[in-house]
Amino acid sequence: MRVAAFTTDDSTDLEILDRSDPTPASGQAVVRVEAAALNHRDLWTIRDDRLERDDLPFVPGGDLAGTVVETGPDVSRVGDGDRVVLCPLESCGTCRFCREGPENMCEAYSSYDGAFAERALVDASRLVRLPDSVDVADAAALPIAYTTAYRMLKRGETAAGDRVFVPGATGGVGIAAVQLASLLGAETVGTSRSATKLERVAAAGLDHAIHSSDPDEIRDAVEEIGDVDVTINHLGGPYTRLGADVLRTNGAMVVCGRTAGRYPEIDARDLYFGHKRILGSTLGTQPDLERLVSFAADGRLEPVLADEYPIAEATRAVRAMDEREHVGKLLIRPQA
Ligand SMILES: [Zn+2]
Repeated sequence: MRVAAFTTDDSTDLEILDRSDPTPASGQAVVRVEAAALNHRDLWTIRDDRLERDDLPFVPGGDLAGTVVETGPDVSRVGDGDRVVLCPLESCGTCRFCREGPENMCEAYSSYDGAFAERALVDASRLVRLPDSVDVADAAALPIAYTTAYRMLKRGETAAGDRVFVPGATGGVGIAAVQLASLLGAETVGTSRSATKLERVAAAGLDHAIHSSDPDEIRDAVEEIGDVDVTINHLGGPYTRLGADVLRTNGAMVVCGRTAGRYPEIDARDLYFGHKRILGSTLGTQPDLERLVSFAADGRLEPVLADEYPIAEATRAVRAMDEREHVGKLLIRPQA
């Protein structure tokens, strides 16, 4: 089988390698990958120097959907021919969060890599079956971006009628947050430095589009719309103080990223007088993913997809993601 792998720790270019087909051990399944979605996390494995020399070559990719082609011993919940999507969460199964939930808070949390391949060896218990009405391309978009956004909205206790603020509404988690907040009955306020991208997100359900990347300008525009119940902050940096400033009393800001800066400033006085809540969150749970699959199955959620690439062009796909000119998920189609 072909895989797309990082072969050095100083380049995010992917090399196509031939590998022997995986063999499932007890509890494992082999999935023929029909769609794999890209996420910025795939690049951070290189950029954060997370790989050791022994890890190379390294096949990235946490989002995959396809068909089960082989199962190991002791696997009963999925079988050959089942269409599935993988929940990329890897948890210890024994800590208090694995026992009592939510499992994405597992103290030994990690997430799957290996989706950029014709076949993927996975933990069968992490596979979610796809109803016939859910396309594999839509399914592959769900696990990381959409599950992360969904869990953040839940963590912020988003309810119908709430106003949800999403700085950077045109990125993967941003679009997902807008679509899912709308689905929950909330009003959405989103920002982007690109008017063209905002138009695309408005078509996907964004109620108030603010065309700016300047935090002061955005603050004024949001205040004109009204107080915010929940801020979904996947950017970090200066958007953190902004995201907290615009909250109503006892409002919540949920943080899942830091592409705009890791050590943000915040107004402590506004925080305590406003009784505001700042919550961290990463990824989501398998039941969250199952819920999203059911939203996709009944037509309530249509993930926004950008372009797709054959596996031989995986490097082009990664560069496209890095250039951030697209709106929606980029996919690799390994069987194309
Ligand atoms: Zn655990």
